[in-house]
Amino acid sequence: MAEKFQIGKLITNPGQKGFGWIKLSDTYYGELKIPLIVVNGANPGKVLFLGTGIHGTEYVGMDAMLRFIHEFDVSVLYGKIIAIPMINIPAFEAISREGPFDSLNLNRVFPGKKTGFLTEQIANLLIETVLPHVDYIIDLHGATLNDMQLNVCGFEESDRFSSLDMAKAFGIESLWRMATSGIKGTFTGAATEKGIPSIIVEVGGEGRCREEWVQFEMQGIKNVMKVLGLIEGTPEGLPSRYRIIEGFYQHAAAGGFLRPQVKLGDWIKQETILGVIIDLHGNVLEEIKSSSDGLIMGMRTLPKINPGDWSFWVGTVKEEIEG
Ligand SMILES: [Zn+2]
Repeated sequence: MAEKFQIGKLITNPGQKGFGWIKLSDTYYGELKIPLIVVNGANPGKVLFLGTGIHGTEYVGMDAMLRFIHEFDVSVLYGKIIAIPMINIPAFEAISREGPFDSLNLNRVFPGKKTGFLTEQIANLLIETVLPHVDYIIDLHGATLNDMQLNVCGFEESDRFSSLDMAKAFGIESLWRMATSGIKGTFTGAATEKGIPSIIVEVGGEGRCREEWVQFEMQGIKNVMKVLGLIEGTPEGLPSRYRIIEGFYQHAAAGGFLRPQVKLGDWIKQETILGVIIDLHGNVLEEIKSSSDGLIMGMRTLPKINPGDWSFWVGTVKEEIEG
């Protein structure tokens, strides 16, 4: 029998959707709160956490999740969905990727600190309040306001098989081995340390929220729920082959105006000039050359670039696997 479920102050009965808040702190304008949704299935089963908005300007997942949950029929659910449609509320409010008060990147500070900077407190709140209830995680992201990416789904290698199965089920051809990204302090990394299979989905960018991206993510969520046994059925629209990629954005050395020389999805060779950075007289300050052969997975699309900013992401294909 499915049972009543409580997280924070939100209590949800079996067969019900609950909408509430998790309190982060008090401020002079009232409580700073994070939105929380619980879908308590009519049937017992596992718990899936659906999170978006670790970065405040990544909107596709937010819309996809809210639409998915509002359209979802609770009677067919085995288990529960715990959803947070915007985790980094201060960053969302400021239209910023990072926390506006401390300039910290929430997806680099996990597991966070209860008495740390506000961004660290948000990380700690997720770890303390949400993670103990959760069996699986889908963490929805996208490129920044300044960048655009091909769709990519990251999986955590230390739990390769179950998270890889989840990643394949989402329906994205490019799978990103997170252990090779060099990125520390992520939510999915912290969850993996606790043995929770987790994927990080990157769809869209430039602050846009295109209908086809939203529809794609709604289908991806449904597909992953099917392979996890939360709903019945088999995933739809999956690729016949996947590529496992490594790598991450190269940083620019110079600052100025960026003229790309490649497009998203181009296959390029090592030393290919990806873009040039010019000064304000039109002289070339830097030719950004690829450090490897591979696929243009992501690129800065905002022409103004600062020294040290991300420029291009060339994904190195390490392996191809069958669907
Ligand atoms: Zn992100």
